Amino acid sequence: MNGKTEHNCDTLIVGSGIAGMQAALDIGDAGFNVIMVEKSPSIGGKMISLSKVFPTLDCASCITTPKMAASSHHPRVQMMTYTEVKNISKKADGFEALLIKKPRFVIESECISCRKCEEACPVYLEDEFEYGLGVKKAISIPFTNAIPQFPVLDEEKCIRCGACARVCPKDCIDYLQKPEEITVKAKSVIIATGYEITPMDAKKEYGENKLINVISSLQAERLLAPHGPYGKVLRPSDGKIPDSIAYVQCAGSRDESIGVPYCSRVCCMYAIKQAMLLSGSLPLSEITIYYMDIRAFGKGYEQFYNQARAMGINFVKAKVAKISEDSQHNVILRIDRQEEGSKPQEVKHDLVVLSQGLIPSRKEFFGLDVKLNEYGFIDSPAKTFSPALTGIDGLFVAGVASGPKDIPDTIMEAGSAAMEALNYLKTAKIS
Ligand SMILES: Cc1cc2nc3c(=O)[nH]c(=O)nc-3n(C[C@H](O)[C@H](O)[C@H](O)COP(=O)(O)OP(=O)(O)OC[C@H]3O[C@@H](n4cnc5c(N)ncnc54)[C@H](O)[C@@H]3O)c2cc1C
Ligand code: SF4
Ligand code: SF4
Repeated sequence: MNGKTEHNCDTLIVGSGIAGMQAALDIGDAGFNVIMVEKSPSIGGKMISLSKVFPTLDCASCITTPKMAASSHHPRVQMMTYTEVKNISKKADGFEALLIKKPRFVIESECISCRKCEEACPVYLEDEFEYGLGVKKAISIPFTNAIPQFPVLDEEKCIRCGACARVCPKDCIDYLQKPEEITVKAKSVIIATGYEITPMDAKKEYGENKLINVISSLQAERLLAPHGPYGKVLRPSDGKIPDSIAYVQCAGSRDESIGVPYCSRVCCMYAIKQAMLLSGSLPLSEITIYYMDIRAFGKGYEQFYNQARAMGINFVKAKVAKISEDSQHNVILRIDRQEEGSKPQEVKHDLVVLSQGLIPSRKEFFGLDVKLNEYGFIDSPAKTFSPALTGIDGLFVAGVASGPKDIPDTIMEAGSAAMEALNYLKTAKIS
């Protein structure tokens, strides 16, 4: 571990998804100092990896990139990336947080983001930004519009061949870099740690993540993204353009057997969105959504659903009991139609997407005595009617960290968390 550094701020924001960035901008604009900490090498959260957004079908990165640029250039927002919050303790005069800045093995103050190191590196790895569908080098800038534009070297997979160090024009590869300890003293804290999707192997009847043409909903987002891994929609096993694509709804929600009995609120809408985008890019393909109920509750969502029906997307009210594959890796679904008298049936598709649910990204929140609901999301005390409150003075929550929600609701709650934090900073007796 390298030496310790200490920082002070008005508000510490943990997480830089759309919730964290929105709260940082609102607090910074009001004249207070923010430190926004992100454990990944770039800010942006899940939203920067999405294709387009429902119900407007605006390009997700066209909306997220300006927010990333604004929060990273804001004079009152200090961003710390590739830095994880380990512990936060409540003190009489605010909070003290322990952070670990992970080594990139690149001297950031010298790097000019030329990518020469990346070009020279001979080692190819699975690209986590593409959720495993594409490849990256052992030293790479995480994605095209990442902020900041510094590469990260994968310590475990690097073979120490020295090629990156030889080509770097600024001599800034440092194989000996160590993690750094950072202490932040903050008057208030906003937790915006977001979500993960339910794991692909959560439900053993669905192939336990061993079926190559059964992909996750976030992988489908990347296949549909303008700068996705293949530049078009292909099925992973053989690169064939899929003629028949199916969505399995509630593949990780409303299911007691995997401990996620709640509705994840966004899966119906993102499946409809992806189906519409697929039908635009593959007009000859047949697209089917197997669902129990369609939940389209937001502004314009019902019209969006009706539009998808009008486009010819098949909606089949059926429960998918089992997923398997044949010798050509075509996917076989055993379905129980929700109609009286119907018998279980087997149907075949080229490619299947699981509409997984949203679960909290953490099991506990940095040692803080914060109240969680029965599913592990941060709970607001009853009767406060403010989703941003946590029951701890000066500690607020924003985005999916407090429960599944879409982007408009996330942005609204981030604004509310910023307002609560500003009110606290202006009225509480903190030095
Ligand atoms: C497949 C899919 C498609 C979707 N499509 C849409 C859509 O079209 N329209 C829509 O409205 N919604 C959509 N959503 C929902 C949308 O993704 C969320 O509403 C939104 O991204 C939530 O943002 P967030 O900031 O709360 O969380 P996140 O984006 O998860 O951000 C949390 C951030 O916190 C960081 N973090 C976590 N722990 C730590 C730590 N200890 N220290 C530092 N940083 C940490 C994470 O790395 C991450 O960057 C979709 C969801 C899925 C799964
Ligand atoms: S030293 Fe490691 S990161 Fe650098 S080029 Fe060789 S394998 Fe790639
Ligand atoms: S070659 Fe050096 S300066 Fe260029 S991106 Fe890589 S580390 Fe940065």
